[in-house]
Amino acid sequence: RAPEQQQQPLHLVFFPFLTRSHMIPMLEIARIAAERGVKVTVVTTPANAHLVQPTIDRANSRPAFPHQPHMDLRLIPYPSADFGLPDGCESLSAVPAPALVPNFYAALFSLRGALDTLLRDLRPVDALVSDAIHVWTTALAAEHGIPRLIFQVFGLFPLCVENETYLHRPYESISSRSEPFSIPGLPHPVKLTRASMAEGFNSLYMLGLLHESELNSYGVIVNSFYALEPDYAEHYYKVAPRKVFLVGPVGLAGTHPPAAEKKEEKATACRDATLRWLDAREEDSVVYVSFGTLCEFSEEQLRELALGLEASGHPFVWVLRAEGEKWMPEGYEERVAGRGLVVRGWAPQAEILAHRAVGGFVMHCGWNTVMEGVCAGVALATWPRRFEQFVTEKLLVDVLKIATPVWEGFSSVVDEEKVVVPAEALAKAVKRLVGGGEEVAAMRRRVRELAAMGRQAVAEGGSSYEDMSCLIQGLMLCREE
Ligand code: UDP
Repeated sequence: RAPEQQQQPLHLVFFPFLTRSHMIPMLEIARIAAERGVKVTVVTTPANAHLVQPTIDRANSRPAFPHQPHMDLRLIPYPSADFGLPDGCESLSAVPAPALVPNFYAALFSLRGALDTLLRDLRPVDALVSDAIHVWTTALAAEHGIPRLIFQVFGLFPLCVENETYLHRPYESISSRSEPFSIPGLPHPVKLTRASMAEGFNSLYMLGLLHESELNSYGVIVNSFYALEPDYAEHYYKVAPRKVFLVGPVGLAGTHPPAAEKKEEKATACRDATLRWLDAREEDSVVYVSFGTLCEFSEEQLRELALGLEASGHPFVWVLRAEGEKWMPEGYEERVAGRGLVVRGWAPQAEILAHRAVGGFVMHCGWNTVMEGVCAGVALATWPRRFEQFVTEKLLVDVLKIATPVWEGFSSVVDEEKVVVPAEALAKAVKRLVGGGEEVAAMRRRVRELAAMGRQAVAEGGSSYEDMSCLIQGLMLCREE
């Protein structure tokens, strides 16, 4: 670089994966970097522009202290039609039909050419920050002579399990889906089954690709903080192929993109109505029930879920993301009126959790959800559904002891999809969370200590703040090399 270019702010290009749950934390990290003086360009496809733009507008309109944030959005087309996919399908709001998954990934890999051209166009670029799923971007960044940083959507605990699973292959000789085995090498013994690793860490081929791309990257950025997973942080510092930057918790209440919803008015009305409803409840009396962005339940399961919430006798807010409601028990909403609120569509989750009336959270162990629950200081009940969620459940229940499983049977489930959790199990979990008692009081004490540590971590001088400083300084040094 010419000497005058050395004085320019760092320019980072962020390339998130296309689902909301991957995009939300990555955009928050981009925004934090912009507020620390980094020039940020976010790259996505047209169908996802509306999810990114609110964060960019909010960052750019912030007063300069000490830097005027500078974020841009650049779009690259997603070639749906070339791969036999429906237009706009990359803005994933449901898991693609199994037959279309290979096409979805093939189309994703084909973005390499467009990203390559864009990186040339955007020069000078100091680093490419891309989702772990975009394994091919390590080689692309190398071709451009810039470092690639991996954004890892889940926490250190699952990351350590992933790493040790790849290195030790603990299930290679186990064909049964329900036989428990331990993962060697971890700071504490952890037992899992193949069923509970399904889709997550069950493919050694995929783990190999991830490992290799990490090996050739500059490092990994994780939305977690040291005090949440200290043993696993120390462990990963020792075994990780590259540097690890813990920059979370990001995306806490009040910092989320306003609605992440095309119909913004509708989202704002839903937000206001839900928060007003909570205003009228007593402290820690409400249980919030939500299963993330991609969660699909059978009709039979949805019915049991509804009945379980009713049977608990406690106030609840339930975010329902289901097509059609034939399964809804007759007269259900009239029966629970005044005590239960069913929110359809996109709920302002981080704000709901931060409300003083919410004392418990039934959730699926998606990592963003976990971070939001922990940072809101609410007691948790776990109902993992897929991906790495069964692994994360172990962290919450066995290691941190801030959660109670909705149904213990899950840990030995043979085929999770076919299992229906009975209404009574959910009713029992809800009573444990908001019904009072020493067990939940202890859980809440622990989770509130963690929440306070999370706030300290991101405040100036905190561990996550400092990791972001190290990342920025490290990349500045790379520029001089
Ligand atoms: N979310 C939200 N409102 C909803 C559903 C989800 O704000 O109605 C947000 C939630 O706060 C979290 C993200 O979507 O930030 C879900 O991410 P997570 O990793 O928990 O789960 P996934 O969707 O990948 O299963």
